[in-house]
Amino acid sequence: MKQEKQIWQKTSAELFQDLDCGAEGLSARKAAERLERYGPNELRGGGQRSVLRIFLEQFADFLVVILIAAAVVSAVLGDAESAVVILAVITMNAVLGTVQTVKAAASLDSLKRMSAPTAKVLRDGQAVQVPGREVTVGDVVLLEAGDSVCADGRLLECASLKCAESALTGESLPVEKETAAIPGDVPLGDRKNMVFSGSFVSYGRARFLVTAVGMDTEMGKIAALLKNTEEKKTPLQVSLDQFGRRLSAIILAICAVLFAVSVLVRHENVMNAFLFAVALAVAAIPEALSSIVTIVLSFGTGQMAKENAIIRKLQAVEGLGSVSVICSDKTGTLTQNRMTVQKLYTGGRVIPVEEADFSDPIQEPLLRAALLCSDATVNGHGEVGDPTETALVRLGKDHGFDEERTRGRWSRLAELPFDSDRKLMSTVHELSGGLLLVTKGAVDILLDRTVVSPAERAEIEEVNERFSGEGLRVLAFACRTVDSAAVSLADETGLTFLGLIAMMDPPRAESKAAVAACISAGIRPIMITGDHRVTAAAIAREIGILTEGTEAVDGAVLDGMSDEALRDFVPKVSVYARVSPEHKIRIVRAWQDRGSLVAMTGDGVNDAPALKQADIGVAMGVTGTEVAKDAAGMVLADDNFATIVQAVKNGRNVYANIKRAIQFLLSGNMAGILTVLYASLMGLPVPFAAVHLLFINLLTDSLPAIALGLEPHTDAVMAEKPRPRDEGILTRPFLTSVAVEGAVIALAAILAFHMGLSHGGAAADKVR
Ligand code: ATP
Repeated sequence: MKQEKQIWQKTSAELFQDLDCGAEGLSARKAAERLERYGPNELRGGGQRSVLRIFLEQFADFLVVILIAAAVVSAVLGDAESAVVILAVITMNAVLGTVQTVKAAASLDSLKRMSAPTAKVLRDGQAVQVPGREVTVGDVVLLEAGDSVCADGRLLECASLKCAESALTGESLPVEKETAAIPGDVPLGDRKNMVFSGSFVSYGRARFLVTAVGMDTEMGKIAALLKNTEEKKTPLQVSLDQFGRRLSAIILAICAVLFAVSVLVRHENVMNAFLFAVALAVAAIPEALSSIVTIVLSFGTGQMAKENAIIRKLQAVEGLGSVSVICSDKTGTLTQNRMTVQKLYTGGRVIPVEEADFSDPIQEPLLRAALLCSDATVNGHGEVGDPTETALVRLGKDHGFDEERTRGRWSRLAELPFDSDRKLMSTVHELSGGLLLVTKGAVDILLDRTVVSPAERAEIEEVNERFSGEGLRVLAFACRTVDSAAVSLADETGLTFLGLIAMMDPPRAESKAAVAACISAGIRPIMITGDHRVTAAAIAREIGILTEGTEAVDGAVLDGMSDEALRDFVPKVSVYARVSPEHKIRIVRAWQDRGSLVAMTGDGVNDAPALKQADIGVAMGVTGTEVAKDAAGMVLADDNFATIVQAVKNGRNVYANIKRAIQFLLSGNMAGILTVLYASLMGLPVPFAAVHLLFINLLTDSLPAIALGLEPHTDAVMAEKPRPRDEGILTRPFLTSVAVEGAVIALAAILAFHMGLSHGGAAADKVR
């Protein structure tokens, strides 16, 4: 505790000395040694069960205990043979149950590993991406907006860093961080020079020195208290559990009546009658219902992961089957996110990219601004950064404007990073005579901040519409001189317009077919984008989302609309452009109010609330932030819209398979009960011995049901309409077909029994 207290009071130099490390991070060798010493950086919940414990739990069922007791008593009374067989069957059943549970848990574990967060750390002075569990004490971790903090540590550097620490402190607003040492003993929420595992970066950038990992972190201390890390049950499991409980009560009542009839009316041996009644209850009660769902769902997630859809919550698989609206981002999800500049507009002239010329004094300021006000790099090692910006830097490279020389000559002194709410980015550079502010961003927004005559403005807007109509993404550029490098949002006004740069981001090859598959499966695809309406509409039309009779609107039209009006409005709209995160939430809610089950994609920090609101939040695996992934039920490893549609197909197949398995279980159990009831009512001998019943249960209960649950997937499911949002699995037609099948199987068994009896066969109670 004393050691922990000192961390925020010390200087970074003292900490480096204490932890035997430096600002350049650990070497790979030292990191490996420390990983060994401190153990993996993970929280160990108390939920891990040993195989033996799982095996023993299989016997914890009330009826099984009674059955064992009854078998033992009957052995003592002289029927050792059936006691041995009953115990053997019960043990085999338990082994099967254990194997299934362990396998399902293993596949859930591998899921968790797949969606585990990564961290950027300095190793041997180089920034590398490592799995969060490999981060160790002494590592220097780099953070940016949207990252989750993977360990506790002391900040070494920070730029406007804000962290959301509500999971730890309950404080809902993000906390502003700093690096200076803090004297005295301050509570967790005031340790502003520290970051904590389990929190998220909501704004800014930083570097921190890891001081505690795994269970030693503040989060670990809480996690140690929260022993239970068990997966929550899905709605389907909950409803099946309820159904199973009701059914069990009925079956127990029937068994009690049968027991009474055997003893009181037929004067059978009490012990035998009891053993039989309990065996019937064990065989007839469908205890496998909810575990079949777990097994089929968790195996389904394995299939989905192979197809790039990584499921984070089992519930998502179930929900995917009934998705009726998919709201998707445009850039990167429906399009390739491979931007190439096509056209420029500057000095009142549209210039095709082939004619771009850096030696032309009219074009030069625009092309230079494009390079200076971008963070991306394009060099021998490849392209790094936002595709919009790599397109701009590539434009420079292709036309002989060297990235490094340009950036070295007009060095960057300050910046306001791109923010998808503001839709602008600004940088300040050193000029020979002073300081230059360069701003780039969405045309409509930047134009309001420039000084242009109404005629110029009209022309720029007309060119913007024309470019956008061709599906191009258009960025505007502007600049002005400033007095100080300390740049603030207020500086982005009174700018001089430099020009426009339009780039193409072609749709993904598979988008069109995926959209068509959605529509034929009764699912409504909707594009929600931060881009310009006309650009979005052109792309949406090309891939089939924007169709006759539906419209493309700006997110702003939702602002004046009541929730009721919006509910009536959403069916008409296929494309929402220039949306804010709040718009996304309202669109999801409006569709949900209409009874639809909504999947929604997202990548940014601000998308998390909409991802949580959607029935299935879908985060981008490549470009998405950790915050978005954490809020989502599913992560797309390839950021591709077609993957969502494929996942819906898998979800529908999984649901159909679960239904098959349950239908099999219920109809088989019902047939058993009906047969016994019939024999009892007709005064016939008992058709099954207790051992028979248990054997039937072992062979025909879970194994064939699992086989049915793992039936190969088919495309046929995509020809159906989505299942209504509130429709449970146990619909009237479903239960009717269970009843009919159960009756047919029972009839066959009864006929066979009669035939056996009439051919001189002995009743079950005589063959034991
Ligand atoms: P989607 O929501 O479909 O992913 P998007 O990626 O186009 O759409 P944003 O990244 O929020 O959405 O971009 C919104 C707008 O901001 C763009 O239309 C563009 O005008 C502008 N913009 C995008 N990237 C930058 C950037 N790096 N610098 C400045 N402005 C940008």
